[in-house]
Amino acid sequence: MQGKIIKAISGFYYIESDSKIYECKAKGIFRKNGVTPLVGDYVEFEELKNDKGNLISIKDRKNELIRPPIANVDLAIIVAAVKNPDISLLFIDKQIAFLESLNIMPIICINKIDIESGNEIEKIYKAIGYEVISTCAKDSTGVEILKEKLKNKVSVFIGNSGVGKSSLTNKIIGSSIMEEGDLSKIERGKQTTRHVELIKLSESTYIADSPGFSSFEIIPENLENCFVEFQQYIKDCRYRGCNHVLEEECGIKYAVADGKIEKSRYENYCILKNSKNTK
Ligand code: ZN
Repeated sequence: MQGKIIKAISGFYYIESDSKIYECKAKGIFRKNGVTPLVGDYVEFEELKNDKGNLISIKDRKNELIRPPIANVDLAIIVAAVKNPDISLLFIDKQIAFLESLNIMPIICINKIDIESGNEIEKIYKAIGYEVISTCAKDSTGVEILKEKLKNKVSVFIGNSGVGKSSLTNKIIGSSIMEEGDLSKIERGKQTTRHVELIKLSESTYIADSPGFSSFEIIPENLENCFVEFQQYIKDCRYRGCNHVLEEECGIKYAVADGKIEKSRYENYCILKNSKNTK
């Protein structure tokens, strides 16, 4: 049978297949191959009695994250607030770069717009081609728009403490419960362990619940490729393999000077590039 791992706890994998959940164990073959099944994996399993089963094989992954451990992520919502706490564009750019390196689509969500609107930030990121959604978890502004974006995807939410990430996800889950009448989702939140779990909002729509996770701290190897708006200007760099930091006659620097690349994006690129080189 085919299914998807939605939860993994102490050696048991909970596989969803045809709206049923099977408690499965992985066969020794996984240990032998050094492969660990992950939440989000599409798998093949054999059904045993009483909704139990054996995990047989894992399908190829589109991508995989280590922390939180999850595979096949389609979308990442980067939640930020302009004020309270003050926005960090470095944080946003670092998350975007990492997501780009894995081909995961980022959406920037400016929450707490009742305190301050995110118009300026929206301008910066929309110009690059990223989607920006303004929300206020408190009164549910923008929540339905955000929910629409999550459809038919597996999404993770990123955001530092205080930005309202959990109020936002609670609102989204809450309104899905109302629509689907599925009370089992209320159980969420009582869970205290730190395992990752996919919460099903509707058919083919999941959000990853990963307590304790707030951001990706990895700077990708190919950082220059992860700033998508830089790509068209690299041809103007004099030196092949230009790092766009100390070099003169750099296409990226020209584009920044011409206002074609946002200064904050370039500065954050340099910070990330330098912090990578000093490691
Ligand atoms: Zn350059």
